[in-house]
Amino acid sequence: ATATRALFMLFGATGDLAKRKLYPSIFNLYKKGYIDNKHFALIGTGRREWSNDKFHDVVFESVKDNAESEDQAKDFASHFYYMSHDVTNPEHYDALSEYANKLDAEYDAQGNRIFYISMAPNFFGTVAKNLKAHNCLSNNGGFNRLIIEKPFGRDYESAEELNNALGKSFNENQVYRIDHYLGKEMVQNIIALRFGNPLIEGMWNNKYIKNVQVTLSEKLGVEERAGYYDGAGALRDMTQNHTMQMLSILTMEEPVSFKDIDVRSEKIRALRSMRIYTPDEARENFVRGQYGKNGDQADYRHEDNVPEDSNTETYVAGKVMFDNQRWANVPFYVRTGKMLADKFTRIDIVFKKPIIDIFAAAGKQSGDLQNNVLTLFVDPVNKVILHLNGKKAGQGMEMQPLDLTHTQSDEEKAATPEPYERLIHDAILGDATNFASWDEVSRAWKFADVIRNVWDTDKPDFPNYTPGSMGPKAADDLLARDGNEWIKK
Ligand code: NAD
Repeated sequence: ATATRALFMLFGATGDLAKRKLYPSIFNLYKKGYIDNKHFALIGTGRREWSNDKFHDVVFESVKDNAESEDQAKDFASHFYYMSHDVTNPEHYDALSEYANKLDAEYDAQGNRIFYISMAPNFFGTVAKNLKAHNCLSNNGGFNRLIIEKPFGRDYESAEELNNALGKSFNENQVYRIDHYLGKEMVQNIIALRFGNPLIEGMWNNKYIKNVQVTLSEKLGVEERAGYYDGAGALRDMTQNHTMQMLSILTMEEPVSFKDIDVRSEKIRALRSMRIYTPDEARENFVRGQYGKNGDQADYRHEDNVPEDSNTETYVAGKVMFDNQRWANVPFYVRTGKMLADKFTRIDIVFKKPIIDIFAAAGKQSGDLQNNVLTLFVDPVNKVILHLNGKKAGQGMEMQPLDLTHTQSDEEKAATPEPYERLIHDAILGDATNFASWDEVSRAWKFADVIRNVWDTDKPDFPNYTPGSMGPKAADDLLARDGNEWIKK
């Protein structure tokens, strides 16, 4: 492992994400030697008045279960420095800049700086602008990189405004927009499976593929996120970002190389061929839902912090089309929702059947030949199943389904880093492959905005699905219209 020297500056250091995900991830990188143990420090800021000792305790608590010894966890925590800071007060950045220079010299970080904004999105632009204006970026040849949490805007306009604010301080190639789905093993495996296997890539087009289905299913309701969620809805929360990112990887052409710049340009090209609907097409091709009551489970409108007349969708299903030679006429069905039957993420690639079924003609099978389906299980287990037709054992030639299954082993699982660990590691290496670029994000917003505007205008008939189901009936009808059905019912 190459150990990178770096000074981190984390905004939102007292927050939930920092404790749950960021400290454990940075600790793993430290433990594995990806971060130079001698030349690393982190300045954490938050509104609270914490001492360095208090900060060390918090960091220690969040990593200790993962440490080889107590000393290792303490040693790690000793690299952390706290500064109480109001991000809206410009003067504070002068103090921050001074502190950063002091620690940079003390740890000989050589001007490598990673700024991580883990705060409410309305602060992203303010922080980025002030960092540059108050000389918090190094200027001695080290790198300056900005990692930024989601959501990136709430429509095209606000996203563009935010992007312009970031652009005042950072170039596009210094900005790392987190979409943690891109840090998932199986999402990265899509690229390996496609471009490492002529067997798969050779069939990865409209000649052989009938449709593709991407499902992000959640079992829980809004829980304590209602305040944020009710102002966002499933389209913004899941479809515009995670689903679009997966679609771009599924549909892109083969990149010239696996370098970030080459992968990005293919993802962008794929998204540029994604059909942006007219309002009428949006009505036809997208379905929304909101969960109703089921036994003790309150309907969405009676959850805590949700207005009783809320028209926010907790479910989205839709059909996405890519107008290019490879994908013309292949529907990409996407769906996501809360309070569904189970928690999982999966991608089903449904292949066409043989044009002529020689077995049926000879009466050699019960039922039809089935569609070949390649299923990529992203969550909760990493698994690949290729669903084929094969011969039933015995005399004669009767056909039956035959599944080839690969499940991630316990060893592979142990070797799989958490998305945040992997993404922070990529950022310290300067590899932006698994981050969302502005061109991707903006295209996805343009697509989502049409649907959003229609839904903000038309009155929905909510609630329309039962907790524990896989969503409203209209989502099944959407596929049935094309002669298709959801593989996972
Ligand atoms: P949080 O509310 O727990 O923490 C917010 C942090 O911001 C705190 O450290 C607080 O002190 C700081 N802060 C707020 N106002 C401030 C101000 N004026 N000046 C200085 N500091 C201020 O939030 P969180 O759950 O940690 O989420 C952080 C970001 O990560 C958000 O953008 C969120 O959308 C994103 N995110 C969170 C999760 C999660 O699981 N919590 C998952 C994905 C993305």
